[in-house]
Amino acid sequence: MTERIFNFSAGPAVLPLPVLEQAQRELLALPGVGASVLEISHRGKPFQSILESAKLRLKSLLDVPDNYHILFLQGGARLQFSMVPMNLMPGSAAPPEYVLTGSWGKNALKEAEKAGPLRIVWDGKDTRYDRLPAPDAWKPTPQAAYVHITSNETIQGVQFPDDPDTGEVPLVCDASSDFLHRPLNISRYGLLYACAQKNAGPAGVTIVILREDLLDRSGDSLPGYLNYRIHAENNSLWNTPPSFGVYMVDLVARWLQEEIGGLEKMYAQNRDQANTLYRVLDNTNGFYRGHAQPESRSLMNVTFRLPSEELEQRFLADAERQGLSALKGHRSVGGIRASIYNAMPWEGVNALRDFMQDFATQNA
Ligand SMILES: *Cc1c(COP(=O)(O)O)cnc(C)c1O
Repeated sequence: MTERIFNFSAGPAVLPLPVLEQAQRELLALPGVGASVLEISHRGKPFQSILESAKLRLKSLLDVPDNYHILFLQGGARLQFSMVPMNLMPGSAAPPEYVLTGSWGKNALKEAEKAGPLRIVWDGKDTRYDRLPAPDAWKPTPQAAYVHITSNETIQGVQFPDDPDTGEVPLVCDASSDFLHRPLNISRYGLLYACAQKNAGPAGVTIVILREDLLDRSGDSLPGYLNYRIHAENNSLWNTPPSFGVYMVDLVARWLQEEIGGLEKMYAQNRDQANTLYRVLDNTNGFYRGHAQPESRSLMNVTFRLPSEELEQRFLADAERQGLSALKGHRSVGGIRASIYNAMPWEGVNALRDFMQDFATQNA
């Protein structure tokens, strides 16, 4: 099959077609270099300029202040679950605090517990992680090492609509599944991390944006790779970085700048696309039941159930036949999950909307 499906995979996920086409064109020889990005030294000029370009584009797209570092690491978001507490916990007067809004937050907590004591300040488990805390439901303890949130819970489909204000306490955010989907107020964050394979590139590279002063906390006894300060001092070149991943992040960032026109435009498209699908949930007489409470709905992962598992099976099979692929929900929530990241084209969203409407009419 050479025709592209509409790929609703939660991750690794759809990438912009122009990005894939450029990578394909350049795979045998980067212009002016004569070799592939897969084949050149990470210490040579050509790769250095790719790395600088990726950094500058991210800095410009997100308006990252000068007192922040942008790192390209390996190990996925999962390694950040460990690196964050190992680097930021030592020496703090009070333990880190975790806000649990879904499965990924819980996974982050499980790893952090290995580094030391911590505190859960809010846990959505009583309502099966279908909502975010009310704005005044939690307040960080002033001395806490940091507060950890998951901006978008990929499995449940709930998302913070804005950047929480945690005052002096560093806000740490797992932004893996909504990185670059809207502008951020980076100065609200102490550290923000995202594996690339949802919204920013291929698996294998993880982006970390962190505030300069937090590097003072990274102890010398940490294993080198796990020490943020070492990566920052070496401009992500302490060891061989995930060079193809960095190259792809650069292409995706360029696509956002030059073809989309920046993150405000991307955000508007993401809102419109998500609303297109949520309108179907709200207007089919309860045939579809969204998992997330309306005010906590994710713009990236639209999660819902049908009246029976049998109908869900048929929905998935019929959708697949129409080229609407990878819509199966995560087993912990069940049902359907439509992941509509930045690169999902309007044609895919509209085709899914039409399919959902027809399916509801025929099976209600
Ligand atoms: C996918 C995902 C992860 C895990 O990322 P890995 O790169 O597989 O470690 C963590 N957090 C969130 C929010 C995710 O969506």
